Amino acid sequence: MNKKTITDIDPDGKKVFVRVDFNVPLSSKDPNDDITVTDDTRIRAALPTLNYLLDHGAALILASHLGRPASAEDKQFAMDPVADRLSELLGRPVIKVDEVVGPEAAAAAAALKPGDVMLLENTRFEPGEKKNDPDLAAQMAGMADMYVDDAFGSAHRAHSSTEGAAQAMRAKGGPAVAGFLMGKELQALGTAVSNPPHPYVAIMGGAKISDKIKLIDNLLQKADTILIGGGMANTFLASMGYDMGKSLVEEDALAEAKRLLEQAPGQLVLPVDAGVADEFSADAVRIDKSIEEIESHEMALDIGPHTLDRFGEKLQGAKLVVWNGPMGVFEFPAFAKGTDTLALILAGLVDEGAEVVIGGGDSAAAVKKAGLTEKMTHVSTGGGASLELLEGKELPGIAVLDDK
Ligand code: ADP
Ligand code: MG
Repeated sequence: MNKKTITDIDPDGKKVFVRVDFNVPLSSKDPNDDITVTDDTRIRAALPTLNYLLDHGAALILASHLGRPASAEDKQFAMDPVADRLSELLGRPVIKVDEVVGPEAAAAAAALKPGDVMLLENTRFEPGEKKNDPDLAAQMAGMADMYVDDAFGSAHRAHSSTEGAAQAMRAKGGPAVAGFLMGKELQALGTAVSNPPHPYVAIMGGAKISDKIKLIDNLLQKADTILIGGGMANTFLASMGYDMGKSLVEEDALAEAKRLLEQAPGQLVLPVDAGVADEFSADAVRIDKSIEEIESHEMALDIGPHTLDRFGEKLQGAKLVVWNGPMGVFEFPAFAKGTDTLALILAGLVDEGAEVVIGGGDSAAAVKKAGLTEKMTHVSTGGGASLELLEGKELPGIAVLDDK
């Protein structure tokens, strides 16, 4: 995607407002406890952008949302533990202000010198944030000379700190560009959307087809083959007349599933067998059997070994693979096999020079659980945002950034 990044601006001596994704898990929900950050992956992920800007003479004003506070009174969602962790990781003090905008924030911003880092309070403490209140956005942009968005996971939402502040920065003549993390997402997912190399194989799974009909429609335009696993495969198979027993089947989506199959004969590849069980539980006994053999008391919870072989063949020689949605109920070890094996096959393809891009929150978690995140070309950090981008939608937080 043709968007400017921080290497296209000169931040020397400037104040840069950076929308980061510091939506990290916390140790407690009790504001009386000493709340700490339990997983700092997202803070670490922002460091390349922050250090680049600092090394090039900027002062930073950082903003993020954190959790889902009902109001500014929800003190367990205050940014203080994040400021502490960030300070440790950056190896320099972080000035934490107790408001998102207002006189205290403005005064602290005005006093910043190159190399200083300031963190604003949780953007969702401001009721205007989610409404993309232009006054709030103007106050955010008003503290800085430049706007950088490095929070890909929030780019599908037009909020004051995403779309609004970028717009406000433009209105006052300053640049609005992508950070390194955002740039990496745009590069990897943008290739799949705008000029994918071929053969391009998409893999779809997860629980529901109804969530992803638009995505499948868009992938049918772009990909050569789409492999379907997970719960959504059940709905496709049921639409072809198979009795899926107690499997998750979306009755409301049967007609759409049928339409997709008829529209693209041969392009959609479905499972031929499944790992089934009598009940939906972590210690259910797994039996592998062909789809025709599924009995009325059974449910398909994973793809089977013959399906994996078939998918493996279809993936041979692929130049690009985009994967969204686990192949089974990967949360249960007995039914993680399809997902884990597929992840291994994909890691092998990367070694052969293919680009493998993973999108979707649970898919990223499944690849992480398999220990293969580092092997993939790109694992997107934005669940909803990555899916919307792959659907071909324009994301407001990206559309607003300066074009190259
Ligand atoms: P993502 O977040 O990557 O987009 P989804 O949210 O669409 O993925 O789907 C993930 C969920 O799908 C997981 O919780 C998994 O347990 C569930 N799932 C996968 N296969 C099945 C199945 N055969 N039956 C029921 N649920 C399934
Ligand atoms: Mg999910």
